[in-house]
Amino acid sequence: MNCEVIVQIFSGGFLEKAVPYEEVERKLVSVLPHLHITKVIMGWPPDKALYEKTAKFLAERNIDFYLWFPVFSETGALEDLSPLVDFCDQRIECRKDEDFSFCCPNPRNTEKILGIFEREFSSINFSGVFLDRIRYPSFANGNGFGSVFSCFCPECSAVYKSKSFNIEQLKTALSSVADTPLGITEYRGNGEYVFKDNALSDFFRMKAEIISEKLRRICGYFRERGYGIGFDVFAPFLSPFVGQDLKTLSGLCDFIKPMMYRITHAPAGLPFETEAFLQQTGNTDAAKKQNFYKLLGIDPELRPGAESESFTLKKKPFDLAFAVKELQNLSASSDCPVYAGVEINRVKDIAESDRFYIEETVKAYAQTGVRGLALSWNLLDMPDENIAQAADSIKNLSLI
Ligand SMILES: [Zn+2]
Repeated sequence: MNCEVIVQIFSGGFLEKAVPYEEVERKLVSVLPHLHITKVIMGWPPDKALYEKTAKFLAERNIDFYLWFPVFSETGALEDLSPLVDFCDQRIECRKDEDFSFCCPNPRNTEKILGIFEREFSSINFSGVFLDRIRYPSFANGNGFGSVFSCFCPECSAVYKSKSFNIEQLKTALSSVADTPLGITEYRGNGEYVFKDNALSDFFRMKAEIISEKLRRICGYFRERGYGIGFDVFAPFLSPFVGQDLKTLSGLCDFIKPMMYRITHAPAGLPFETEAFLQQTGNTDAAKKQNFYKLLGIDPELRPGAESESFTLKKKPFDLAFAVKELQNLSASSDCPVYAGVEINRVKDIAESDRFYIEETVKAYAQTGVRGLALSWNLLDMPDENIAQAADSIKNLSLI
C-alpha cells in the first residue's frame, strides 16, 4: 500500500531566535535517503534567510515547502489582539510570553493575523501554508471551564444573540450535576456528541461555525495568492470542544492533519486532553471516568496494542483501537486527504516515543484509509533510531 510522508520542523517561536539553517539542512540530508518525503512544514520565527535557503534546498529536490503558521494563538506576540472573554465575563488575557494563549477569533483579529503573514512571510517562496491553532482553547489550557466556555466578548455575544442563543440556559446546564462529563449521553463518532441539554450542542455548534467562517476568509486570502493549504486539527472526539467541525474544515483545505498523539502529555495529546477534560469538568472519581470511557468505547486501562510487553514507556499509550476507529471515520467522511499525525520526536516527559510505539502506531494508522502520515512535530528532535524505525515501518507497508 502507498503511504505518503510529510514532516514538520519546529524552527522556533515568533519571538525566538530561529534554529540555524545548517542544522535544518544537516537533518534533511540525513533523512531524505530513507524517507520519501513529499512536503516539509516549517515555522514559525520571522527569519527570511532561513526560509529562503530551505525553500531553495527543497525546490531542488521537488519537495513542497509549507509555512507552519499558528493563527489564533501565538500571533498575540506580534500584534495587539483582543482577548477571549469567558461566560462569567472574565477576560482571558493573551499573555505574550506564554504558549497556547488564544485571542478571540473575531474579524478584526483575523485581518491583523493575515497582516502578520503579509508583512513577515509573503515575500518567501512557500508552496503553501499549514495553519495551526485554528481553534479556541481546550480544557488543557487551564482557566477552568472558562477557556472552553468562551468567547463572550460583546462582539461574539452579539453573534450568539442573532442566533437566538440563551446564555442563561447554558449556565444552568453547566451547573447541573450529571453522571457523565457535561451530561454527554452518546458519542456517535466523528466528533458528534449527544448532550442531555441542547444548550451545550448549540453552543459548540456556534463556535464551530465561527471558526469555519473565519477560515473561509483566511483560505480565500491564501487561495487568491496561489498557496496550498493544510490544517492542523484535534482528534475527532476532542474537536467539538475547541470549535472544530472537521467535516466542514476538510472542505476548505487541501489536506487535514489530525494530531493522533497517543503518548503526548501536552496540548493536543490524546491522554493529556482527555485527562484535562475529565478534570475540568469535575469528573475525576473512578466511576465517572469509567462512565466516560464506556461512552466513548475507550479501554479504561488505556491498553496498548499487541506488543505491550515491549513498551518501555513510563505511561502506556492511549487506546490504539479507539484512535484507529477515529481515523477510519474521519478518512471516510473527509472531503480532502487526511494525514495522521504521529509523534516521532522524543521530548523528555512530554512525548517519550520509542521504536515500539512508532512501529505499532505507524502500521495501524497507515491502514485506516488515510493518504499518509505526518511525522510530527519536530524533525530536529527525532532521534536517529526513531527515524530509522519510522522508515522501516513505512517500507514494510509497501509489502501489505
Ligand atoms: Zn469574542
